[in-house]
Amino acid sequence: DIDRRERALLDAAQRYSFRGRIDTSAFSGPVFASARGSVVTDLRGNDYLDFNSGQMCAALGHNHPRVLAAIQEACETMLHAHSSHFNVKEIELAVRLGELLPDPLTRSLFGESGADANELALLLARIYTGGREVFSPHVSYHGLSASARSVTFAGWRRGHGSLPGDSHALIAPYCYRCPLAKSFPSCGFACLDTSFELVDAQSTDQPAAVITEPLFSAGGVIDPPQGWLARLRELCHERGMLLVVDDEQTGLGKLGTLFGFDDEGIVPDIVTLAKHLGGGVGISSVSTTDEIEDKVVGAGLTVTRSHSNDPLLCAAGVASIDIVVEEDVPAKARALGERLREHLTALSERFDLIGDIRGRGMLVGVELVRDRDTKEPAFAEGNAIGRQCFEAGLIFSVRRGGSVLRFVPPSTTTLSQVDQAMETFAKVLEEVSTAS
Ligand code: PMP
Repeated sequence: DIDRRERALLDAAQRYSFRGRIDTSAFSGPVFASARGSVVTDLRGNDYLDFNSGQMCAALGHNHPRVLAAIQEACETMLHAHSSHFNVKEIELAVRLGELLPDPLTRSLFGESGADANELALLLARIYTGGREVFSPHVSYHGLSASARSVTFAGWRRGHGSLPGDSHALIAPYCYRCPLAKSFPSCGFACLDTSFELVDAQSTDQPAAVITEPLFSAGGVIDPPQGWLARLRELCHERGMLLVVDDEQTGLGKLGTLFGFDDEGIVPDIVTLAKHLGGGVGISSVSTTDEIEDKVVGAGLTVTRSHSNDPLLCAAGVASIDIVVEEDVPAKARALGERLREHLTALSERFDLIGDIRGRGMLVGVELVRDRDTKEPAFAEGNAIGRQCFEAGLIFSVRRGGSVLRFVPPSTTTLSQVDQAMETFAKVLEEVSTAS
């Protein structure tokens, strides 16, 4: 029966799976078995509202019918082609991206994961500038391959051993807890001025690039004030450095705009996409300008991967972009975010635990504090809320050690599912608030 089957699977995981996981409680279940839209279902048949969008890859909804149809077609025609020759789906995806991204970002190549794309982006920046040093804000997450990990500062470095010495952190625009104890806008982006003193101090010759998320998701839903990204771009260009925007979580509609940098009126030198670009399968992209592509190709760079132009993956990419455009995912993200914020704002009037509500579109964060004046982080409370909501059938992510809750409903979520999620959240907040 189901108890025995679940027990046997979890015992097998204990014995055969790698145990270094973000959430070691995974070994006590549940075991997920199916998913559709905004709901994932475990082996026992319990449904969960997935406000973590399958850790962000299912932001267009789990098993979107359009993605399934595209994959099905690839299954019937060609799963894998020659990595050194073009195939129909690969070209289609490059065209879709080239048409969707702002000029002059017309050239794309593909990878299989987020880290993979960032690794390539940093390689392009280093070849183009001839420089080595790369920088990113101290709450960044860019992946766990060598160069991507070297600019990942939002945890997950422990146990990974030594890192390249040519990567450094900048001071992130974490306005709720400004590292420089200033406030916006009177600060005049002092974090960027100090950061670039550090860039200059830590560069040997020509620094290569800054890589940044437009909104720091894994690091705690930290949303830079308007103008920060544009100023960052200026400071990079003054030094001959490139600006790489990692839009893997934040692009393709999630923030209520097509790309995470749209609000800033700028175009980065290189943009990476991943996560919901594949609608649930592993594909990522690196897009850049003709000028940059020309120079790196001229320098002799070739990139061949066994799987990154697989028709299966590229077909999912094409379908995802079609969903974003034709279903107007940016508009859905704005509507979902607005409803979430209405609930959260009302809850903040009832619960002092809520210190800050932030984010854009359907990526919304709540920072919990024990005291609104001292802003002492409520780590234990946040972890308890995350656990109890999960048990009650609502999944979201808990960041910064417990003090930030991140809500990301897939674009398939209905407003009544948002209401239902917030009802669960309110009940659990009540329980945890009275217990502490
Ligand atoms: N960049 C960002 C902004 C991410 O959030 C992530 C994954 N959380 C990555 C890169 C790494 O992607 P992957 O795990 O697919 O390598």
